[in-house]
Amino acid sequence: MCGIVGYIGKQNVCDILINGLRELEYRGYDSAGIALLYDNDIEIFKAVGKIDNLANKIDESKINIQNSKFNIGIGHTRWATHGKPTKLNAHPHFGAYSYVVHNGIIENYKELKKELENAGHNFISQTDTEVIVHLFEYYFNDTNDAKMSFNKTIAKLKGAYSILLITKSCPDTIFFVKHGSPMAVAYGKNKNEVFFASSDAPLIGFASKVVYLEDGISGVATKDSLEFSNEVKWTTLP
Ligand code: GLU
Repeated sequence: MCGIVGYIGKQNVCDILINGLRELEYRGYDSAGIALLYDNDIEIFKAVGKIDNLANKIDESKINIQNSKFNIGIGHTRWATHGKPTKLNAHPHFGAYSYVVHNGIIENYKELKKELENAGHNFISQTDTEVIVHLFEYYFNDTNDAKMSFNKTIAKLKGAYSILLITKSCPDTIFFVKHGSPMAVAYGKNKNEVFFASSDAPLIGFASKVVYLEDGISGVATKDSLEFSNEVKWTTLP
């Protein structure tokens, strides 16, 4: 179980995610990745080994974050439990239009994978994580309702997980859940800014108020609203 970061806001989302992942490096990891969602487009970067490898790939891509509208992103450092530490197995994992990062283990992934394959979904990694994003799209294709699809997805999962999911079908939103792996949600110091992190190291200096999620709490975040599935307790950060 390694690290997760997420960001909604006006700052350079790439810098925020990379800095956040660096703050989580002390936990150890074998690969890292980020996904950025802007307008109706997604950029995804993954690298095996150090965060520097990931940062170099982003630099080489020459995407112009400063002048673009990138304002939502999720990032991950992986400690492989299912599947070798390869670029393909690094998170974020994706379906046709949605992206997910996950810490923990999905114990029933084999049966879910089989059901989804029977329903026509193709898998490209050996991870347990990939079922999450396909399950989400399986429900979304049917309902056209992202929040309902996310809730149906997490109701199916057995094991330990903290998850962030973004989707082109709802491009201003991060869906989140915590169950057995840590996850914190925080308001940033600037207006309309939300941070996610699996420990508070990436939040220090950036966040004003934080919720350390209890098990079973999920929710939906946009720049204007933060919704939790149950009551939460806020802590003010210095
Ligand atoms: N079980 C997932 C994987 O192997 C997540 C591991 C983690 O928590 O980093 O990809």
